[in-house]
Amino acid sequence: MSFFAKLKATFSGTPASGTALTPASATVARGPSWRIVLTAIGVTTPTCPHCGHAFEKMPQRKRACPKCSAVFYSRKRSLDGAKVLLTEAHAREGEAQDALVTLTQEGVSDADLDALVHALQGQLGRVPTADEVLTQHLARAAAAHAEALNWGLYRNARFNLAESCARRGQHEDALRLLIEVSVLDLNGPRNCGGSKDPELLRRFPPFDPKTAFLAPGIINRTVEIIDLLKLSPDDTRRLFESVAGSVGPTLRLPRSATSVWRELSKALVDARG
Ligand SMILES: [Zn+2]
Repeated sequence: MSFFAKLKATFSGTPASGTALTPASATVARGPSWRIVLTAIGVTTPTCPHCGHAFEKMPQRKRACPKCSAVFYSRKRSLDGAKVLLTEAHAREGEAQDALVTLTQEGVSDADLDALVHALQGQLGRVPTADEVLTQHLARAAAAHAEALNWGLYRNARFNLAESCARRGQHEDALRLLIEVSVLDLNGPRNCGGSKDPELLRRFPPFDPKTAFLAPGIINRTVEIIDLLKLSPDDTRRLFESVAGSVGPTLRLPRSATSVWRELSKALVDARG
């Protein structure tokens, strides 16, 4: 299987349904049909979403309920912009729905999303969750960016995919993707806009280590998930080697895995302070 075929296949299997929240079927979808994925999550009244404890006024931020001690979140939901109080699971679902809305603000067309939601609905026999739609979209977008040698955009898609995996509790997949993002960052990914002109690519190569960087947010996230999975430094190194071993040669990254690991492992240690 070619690299691009693999990319497309990696996340296109039947989406996991384990953590899927049942979309509210009573929702009246307005506008483009993909919006059926946006659901009426949370409670719109000032009551704890866990135990129903009534507050005098709408809490404006995340806090623990004085009655049941469970943490709840205060957000605006994508469906209708209503201020709602959410359980943690619904807060995560809300993040996925927000991410989907952001895609359309970033130029993904309603028609593309409609088609994707329609296809998934046929495959699953139910309305897909926002993360299921995101995963499919991001896997395809990443493959298209890779084909066009737009490695900066590819890297962003892979990072968003990592966040989607983490929301769904697929922490090992999330960690592999986060490590891949840092491997790319340390090689200085660039967007070549589909140019295949060898002379141009020689002058403006797809990767330029002179522009290498590490994003502190991604390093912190990586550390969080390493801790969550209780991985030892050796485990982490093995995971890195597996990721770098598959990504490095395929994308013809200019830096060696050894030199990338030296920098990444130091950043991971430093992030723990
Ligand atoms: Zn409560």
